[in-house]
Amino acid sequence: MNNPHVQEQGEQSKIPIGISSCLIGEKVRFDSGHKNNTYITKTLNEYFQFKPFCPEVSIGLGIPREPIRLVSDELDGEVRCIGTKDPDLDVTAELSSCAESQFHWVSELSGYIFKKDSPSCGMERVKVYTKNNPTRSGVGVYASAILQAFPNLPVEEEGRLGDTRLRENFIKRVFIYKRWQDLNKSQWSKKSLVDFHARHKLIFMSHNQTKTRELGQLVSQLGSVDLQDLCSQYITAVTDILRKPTNTKNHTNVLKHIQGYLKRSLEVDDKAELEHTIEQYRLGYLPLIVPITILRHHFRKHPDPYIEQSYYMQPHPRELMLQNTL
Ligand code: SF4
Repeated sequence: MNNPHVQEQGEQSKIPIGISSCLIGEKVRFDSGHKNNTYITKTLNEYFQFKPFCPEVSIGLGIPREPIRLVSDELDGEVRCIGTKDPDLDVTAELSSCAESQFHWVSELSGYIFKKDSPSCGMERVKVYTKNNPTRSGVGVYASAILQAFPNLPVEEEGRLGDTRLRENFIKRVFIYKRWQDLNKSQWSKKSLVDFHARHKLIFMSHNQTKTRELGQLVSQLGSVDLQDLCSQYITAVTDILRKPTNTKNHTNVLKHIQGYLKRSLEVDDKAELEHTIEQYRLGYLPLIVPITILRHHFRKHPDPYIEQSYYMQPHPRELMLQNTL
């Protein structure tokens, strides 16, 4: 069985990913230190070309510098980014406009990895100080502007990449988004959208079957609505589907659906073994890679064009072993 993903990976260059500079070992933090993340710099580096950026250095805060933090105004509740020692040091506007002046290169990215907890780069649960205890309700000022401007861009924090499901989800989204961007550059046609949908449909089903049906209905409007409008609605809907990671129940449903393509090809004992393996996966005794490996083995002997072109069984490079932990 051919694997379309592997074929393409051999031909394309690394995928451009934005990243908070300190995560790749650049000494740009307020204390002149860094937060090098070895999974990023040693493993993901094989597939991603990182574009580092430090907004605090960019706005001229210097290294070392006074730390800044998010503070909620007592009167109007507005959140501002100010110095921890000098409350007159307010860099909220500078960080926002700094983000806006990066949009030209961020628009070329296929993903962004932010530093967690940072009042500039954190994408969620950043501490917001008030008179009382801080609450984890903030978003870094720079990250917030990027998230708003690029709502379909796959984003993640380095801390969350330690969670196997979130990690797998982010990396899968990056590869899907990159393929979408490549098609976007070469002008959409009805055929390219239908092909894109067909090749990713099983992945979408593994996230949310109801929303995947709705997505299919959207694609079925092809010909009766403006193609660019439809593509724009489509990627928004895809982002919504992929935002929440997969779960075992949905994967089990997809595995059984794929098994259906082999119903006339398998011997009784092979069929029983496959069913047993999917059930063992459902019960949590086996990782996803096991039923997928067996399915791939059977489809090598009994090829099916729809399954062959689908990215479901290998949505990212095998060497990352992301299906071994699902
Ligand atoms: S978290 Fe962001 S602002 Fe802070 S040092 Fe890292 S890149 Fe710079």
